[in-house]
Amino acid sequence: MRDYAVVGRQLFLQRIIIYSAAILLAGYYYDTSTALFFYAMVWLGEAFDGYVFNQILRWRDRDWAKARHFVLMIYIGTLFSATVIASFSISLAAQQGHTMHFWALFMLFSAAIFAAINNHQILSVLVLRLSIYIAALLFIPIRDLVATNPPLSSPLWLQFFTVLFVLSFILECSRSFLVGYVKNLRYINALVAEHEKTKAAYNAKQEFLATVSHELRTPLTAIKGALQLIGSGALGTVPPKMQHLFNMASSNSESLANLVNDLLDLQRAETGKLELHIEPIELGAVAAATVDRTRPYAARFDVTLHMEQPKREYWVNADRHRIEQVLVNMLSNAAKFSETGGRVEISLGAHDDQISLAVKDYGIGIPKDASEKVFEQFSQVNSSDIRRHGGTGLGMNISRHIMQAHGGEIDFESVEGVGSTFYVTLAEDKTIRPQPIPDMRKSA
Ligand code: ADP
Repeated sequence: MRDYAVVGRQLFLQRIIIYSAAILLAGYYYDTSTALFFYAMVWLGEAFDGYVFNQILRWRDRDWAKARHFVLMIYIGTLFSATVIASFSISLAAQQGHTMHFWALFMLFSAAIFAAINNHQILSVLVLRLSIYIAALLFIPIRDLVATNPPLSSPLWLQFFTVLFVLSFILECSRSFLVGYVKNLRYINALVAEHEKTKAAYNAKQEFLATVSHELRTPLTAIKGALQLIGSGALGTVPPKMQHLFNMASSNSESLANLVNDLLDLQRAETGKLELHIEPIELGAVAAATVDRTRPYAARFDVTLHMEQPKREYWVNADRHRIEQVLVNMLSNAAKFSETGGRVEISLGAHDDQISLAVKDYGIGIPKDASEKVFEQFSQVNSSDIRRHGGTGLGMNISRHIMQAHGGEIDFESVEGVGSTFYVTLAEDKTIRPQPIPDMRKSA
C-alpha cells in the first residue's frame, strides 16, 4: 500500500500534464463545456487520491482497522478516477457519432497501459481499474456495431478487432509488470531478512566482545600488579635465571592489557558511549608530557622524539586522557615504523582558529593505495606489520572515533619510503588568552 501511495504521489505531475493536454485538445475539437466538466472531475479525483496517499504515508502503526480503511479509500479513489476517464472517452465517442474513434480509444489505451506499468502494487486495485477501462474500450466499438449493424467489411468491425488485439497487449503488459514487481518484492524481503540476521549476529558479537574483555580485565590487572610488585624488587631481586622469563611475562601482560583496553574503547566508541570529560587543556603542555612518557617506548626502537618548543600556549577544550591516548598512538606508531636510529618530530601550530599537532617521522611511509586501511578496524597496511611491529590495528580507528567525538579530526600525509606526518586538529578555545612561552620548556 505504501509503494502504491509513493508511486501515486510521484506520478501526480505526470498524470496532470497528460490529462490537461488530452482534455485541452478535446475541448478545442469537441464540446468545451463537457471537457471542462471532466477536467474538474479529474482534479477532484486527484485531490481525493492525494489526501489518501498522504494519510497512508503518515501511517506508522500496525492498526489493521486503519489498513482496511485505507484500502477502501484506494478502491473508492480508483473507482472514481477510472470512471471519470472511461466516461470522458465514451462521451467523446458519442460526440463523434458512429465512426472510427481513434481519439477516445487511444486515450483509454494510454490510461490502461499507464495503470499496468504503475498500479501493480495492489493487484485488486489494478484489476478494478483495468476492468473499467476494458469495459469502456469494448463498449465504444460494440455500441457502434449494435447501432449500425454494419457488414463484416466495414471499418467498424476492423476497429472492434483492433480493440481486441490491444486488450491482449494490455493484459500481457500488466502481467509482466506484476511478475517483475512480485519478484522484486521477494528479493527485498529476502534482503531484509538477511539484514536482520546480520544485525543479530553483529549484536551478539559486540556483546560477546564486551563480556570477554571485561572478564579478561580483572585477572589481567591482578597479573600485572603481581608482576609489577616482583619487578619493583620489594619481594627481593629476581634471580638472573628467571629474568628473561619475567621480562617476557611483563611485556606480554602489557600487550594483552593494551589489547583489552582497545577492545573496550572500540566497544564504547561504536555504541556511542565514549564519555568525554571536556575541560580547557593546554595542548602544548599535554603533548610535552606525553612525548616525555613515550620516550622509553621509542628508545626500544632506537628512535628519538624531538618536540619543537611552542612559542605560545594552545588552549583547546578536550578530554585530557583521551587526547593523550591519541598522541600515544601517533607517537608509538611513528617510532614503530621508523628505521633504527630514526627521528620523530612533534610540532604545534594554529590556523584559522584551529590548533594542529603534527607527528612527523622518516620511516617506511604508507603507500597511496593503502591510506584507507590506516583507519580501519583490525587493519594494518602491510600484513607483515603485525609480525614485525606488533599492534592490533585498532589504535588509529579508536583515535579517529575520539577525535570525531571532540569535533576535531585526525589525518595524515605520507610518501612511501620517505615518511609520514600524522596530525590532529581541534578548535582553539578563544576565551582563554594564550600566554607566550619563555624559551625554557625545552624538550629534546
Ligand atoms: P597498529 O596497532 O597496527 O599500529 P594502528 O591502527 O595504530 O594499528 O595503525 C594501523 C596501521 O597504519 C599500522 O599497522 C600501519 O600499517 C599504518 N601506520 C600507522 N602509523 C604509521 C606510520 N607512522 N608510518 C607507517 N605506517 C603507519
